[in-house]
Amino acid sequence: MKIETDRRLGHEWDEWNGQPLPNAGDFRTTAGKYFLFTSLGIGAIVITGAAAIYLLTPRLAQLATWLPRALYVGDAVLAALGALWLALIGLSYATDRALLPGRFAERGLLLKTLRLSSRVGEVFGVQRDWTDNAALAVYNRLAWAREWRVRANELLILIPRCLSRTALDGVMDIAKRYDVATFVATRGAYARQAIRERRPKAVVAVACERDMISGLRDVAGRLPVLGLTMQLPNGPCKDASLDLVKMEQFVRKYLR
Ligand code: SF4
Repeated sequence: MKIETDRRLGHEWDEWNGQPLPNAGDFRTTAGKYFLFTSLGIGAIVITGAAAIYLLTPRLAQLATWLPRALYVGDAVLAALGALWLALIGLSYATDRALLPGRFAERGLLLKTLRLSSRVGEVFGVQRDWTDNAALAVYNRLAWAREWRVRANELLILIPRCLSRTALDGVMDIAKRYDVATFVATRGAYARQAIRERRPKAVVAVACERDMISGLRDVAGRLPVLGLTMQLPNGPCKDASLDLVKMEQFVRKYLR
């Protein structure tokens, strides 16, 4: 079956073949894929580093006899730090507590691992949307664990252009009830521009997994963001639906 393609695709979906998306475009999953693929990714980096040192040892030893050993130690330290970091993120996730400062968690290091986990997932044949959704589950849990309150006029709701009429009405109803500004971002670049111009102190963003990941990597290091992903029963970039109960929870989380 081929879906009608009277839609403007976001560039994140350039390679979409017009076929219905897996699980009717609902990629909600648990956090396990993020932890699995991130640990495999860190492991692959460490093993690649050790193999490179091994192959280059004769040349490195010509530069300094102690150099190969020092690089092995550095590689082992990297492995230990990676394992410790992932364990602490896992513990934060499991206990709903922010155990690490933001820059070592959802506002920094975690953001840098998002592409790694989805790339490793793809190596194992897992479509990136599933892994991205798992990563967002971790991100949101850690972001939620931090206390951060703003006034209604300091919060911004960012929504994409692809929401269904019902979803859009639901979001506008929530925005109206809580008196929060809403911006419909037709492209990711406009969303970032809206943030630069309006200078909110917190954002509730709605997007598909792909757009959300690239948006978070750009802005989540600078201000608190909770990200709500959508379901795409009609394929990407059209008629998206979302969990309005969760949307309202996200808005309430930030309001004083
Ligand atoms: S948020 Fe909507 S319009 Fe933007 S890329 Fe995702 S599915 Fe397409």
